[in-house]
Amino acid sequence: MTAGDPPRRPGFPLRMPTSASPQNAIKSGASGAYKQGDSALKGTSKEAHRRSSGTTAGLATGLGLDSQAVRARMVQKLAAQGVADSRVLAAMMQVERHRFVDSALVNQAYEDTSLPIGLGQTISKPNVVARMLELLVKGQDGKLGRVLEIGTGCGYQAALLAQLASEVYSIERLRGLHHKARDNLRPLRVGNLHLLFGDGMLGYASGAPYAAIIAAAGGEALPQAWLDQLAVGGRLVAPVHGAGGSQALVVVDKTARGITQTLLEAVHFVPLKSGTS
Ligand code: SAH
Repeated sequence: MTAGDPPRRPGFPLRMPTSASPQNAIKSGASGAYKQGDSALKGTSKEAHRRSSGTTAGLATGLGLDSQAVRARMVQKLAAQGVADSRVLAAMMQVERHRFVDSALVNQAYEDTSLPIGLGQTISKPNVVARMLELLVKGQDGKLGRVLEIGTGCGYQAALLAQLASEVYSIERLRGLHHKARDNLRPLRVGNLHLLFGDGMLGYASGAPYAAIIAAAGGEALPQAWLDQLAVGGRLVAPVHGAGGSQALVVVDKTARGITQTLLEAVHFVPLKSGTS
């Protein structure tokens, strides 16, 4: 049930909005445009590994050279916890999580824990990230088509999505984190990942329809824009608040006959907020 590529493709390089609406900003040609480099995410070769060990984080902790082994242990644990999709496990093996956290937290980068990324936000624990990605790709063969992520944060999940999809749009409402993600991702040169600054509650109409939409922040209800921008045959995975303020994961499948929603386990994500800051 792959949704396939939509017929219309937005122009590149994309202009990243500086106002609340990505759609407007693209038209107005606002500053801050950013498109990742052309080549796919690299990082497995010995050479790439040597380079990564030269980062401040790598030098500070010695994690750079042996991060592959630490990551392999994280992936083994994820598999033991029930993550079965080989695409998701391969992506978690490929993307170096320690590149996305502050140097003081690098030693915890491969533990199954959420970590602060600044401005009161957190990077989800690997188990939750893997679970959501697995839900997103379930039932789809091969790579996903075009994907929208709401809540770029530090950019870690966006890098994973770029491994699983042909094209990824990721929106962040906090300028500081949008810039942090850009800095974290720049050395990885992820050609199919487009970072946007704006209010993700509006989705990103220029890239629609999406084969998949994933949110890393939870609101009271799913914004209508997300449902509208999801392709027929597409799937949305997001945390939503239920009665009493508790949060749960919801999976939405859009079919020609309409929308089906499945409520899953309780989760704890940062709040989905409107506007930019
Ligand atoms: N996937 C991220 C997780 C970041 S936490 C990572 O790998 O780091 C969730 C993020 O959602 C926060 O950065 C928060 O600022 C952002 N967010 C909340 N509401 C948003 C909105 N309406 N539009 C875009 N981003 C939003």
